[in-house]
Amino acid sequence: MTTLSAPSDLAAFAEYVREQLGRLAPTFVPEGAADPNDDRIASVEELREGHEEEVAQVRSLQAALFDAGIAWPSGPVEFGGLGLTAAHDAVVEAGLSDLGFPARDALFVGLNIVAPAIRHHAQSQIRADELTALYRGDKIGCQLFSEPGSGSDLASVSTKAVRDGDDWVITGQKVWTSMGHLADVGEALVRTDPTVSKHAGLSMFLVDMHAPGVTVRPIRQMTGGAAFNEVFLDGVRVPDSHRIGELGEGWRVANTSLGSERSTMSGASGPLTPYVLERLSVLVRRLEADADPVHQAQIARTVAAVAAMRAAAGLSAGSWSHQLEPVAGSVLKMLMVRALDEIVRLVQAVLGERLGIDHGEPDTFAWAEFVLGVPALHLAGGTDEIQRNVIAQRGLGLPRP
Ligand SMILES: Cc1cc2nc3c(=O)[nH]c(=O)nc-3n(C[C@H](O)[C@H](O)[C@H](O)COP(=O)(O)OP(=O)(O)OC[C@H]3O[C@@H](n4cnc5c(N)ncnc54)[C@H](O)[C@@H]3O)c2cc1C
Repeated sequence: MTTLSAPSDLAAFAEYVREQLGRLAPTFVPEGAADPNDDRIASVEELREGHEEEVAQVRSLQAALFDAGIAWPSGPVEFGGLGLTAAHDAVVEAGLSDLGFPARDALFVGLNIVAPAIRHHAQSQIRADELTALYRGDKIGCQLFSEPGSGSDLASVSTKAVRDGDDWVITGQKVWTSMGHLADVGEALVRTDPTVSKHAGLSMFLVDMHAPGVTVRPIRQMTGGAAFNEVFLDGVRVPDSHRIGELGEGWRVANTSLGSERSTMSGASGPLTPYVLERLSVLVRRLEADADPVHQAQIARTVAAVAAMRAAAGLSAGSWSHQLEPVAGSVLKMLMVRALDEIVRLVQAVLGERLGIDHGEPDTFAWAEFVLGVPALHLAGGTDEIQRNVIAQRGLGLPRP
């Protein structure tokens, strides 16, 4: 049952969260010291063989957080939130990370991309049914936007939906669908009217990923994991009540999801966690890189880039100017990838060939997975070039080329 007695004062709320997490820790935090052979450090989640148990554990953790009232502090009270702020969400994320709770990457897309679209645009019944299910971990969500022929030019998607009575029949192919193989629901951007301009002909639907006609095929990544998928939609029926937003308003809904995706990737649930920064700092001190003048310059660049990202992320919690608000997600994402690039340069410089060859020395080769994942973050949620276009055209009002 949701607890609604959480205090809104941030310090008191942090204390309240510590109490709640302390109660859940014996069930969800692995006992004893971390496994010394498991020094894994990743920038993009890599679900590997045998991840089912891990995902089941993450779902139960999410349900326990929800039932304790702290799964979604900034969410509306009627859907299990506390009606507080993004700063309160960050307190929970920090508490989870500090106490060693498992990361909830399998839920990232559902909570940070699909749920905001439902919250702001869906009909009330879908909001009531799906938001609670996503926030409780009862359902996992995925984002069905990109297609083999439509990535950066997302408005050109060709997956089509044709009306048939109270249903729509969806046919087409999506690709790069993170967590598609785990998902119960997918947010699908589709063409409902091919006769109007490309942006105006789009609508958004919430697709049941277990419905007949949905086929999901995993894609193996260069880091070894397989968190991506191809998704084939072959005559999939979706009731009109599962439309998110008005007919022809799919582009607006997609932008709600993309803005949230880009901002949250740069926040507490993104790849630049306190855990990563702590591991980096331990590495630098252990190898005494901070005593080397060559490394000192790179350490300074890294610290500055991380600080800039954190400062901007703090601003985004409330005080972006009205003019910059629509592009805040793009600015944050660019600052995040810049900070990640500086970390990669630092790790490469201090580890040298130990990054490429596993000599069995802990905390060295483990960084290879992190380094190999960073290029993907220059693409995910829209490439760097697209973020620059958004900032230039929508933020600064510069002309299109
Ligand atoms: C880790 C990861 C997770 C992802 N998860 C999902 C997901 O869950 N769901 C989903 O739908 N998609 C997902 N994607 C796909 C992602 O959104 C696309 O890869 C991205 O939008 C780029 O599209 P594309 O790969 O088709 O590249 P393209 O659009 O073909 O771009 C190729 C190159 O051309 C450049 N370019 C294209 N247009 C312009 C322009 N107008 N101006 C300047 N340069 C331009 C691009 O910047 C890029 O360098 C994911 C991608 C990654 C890497």
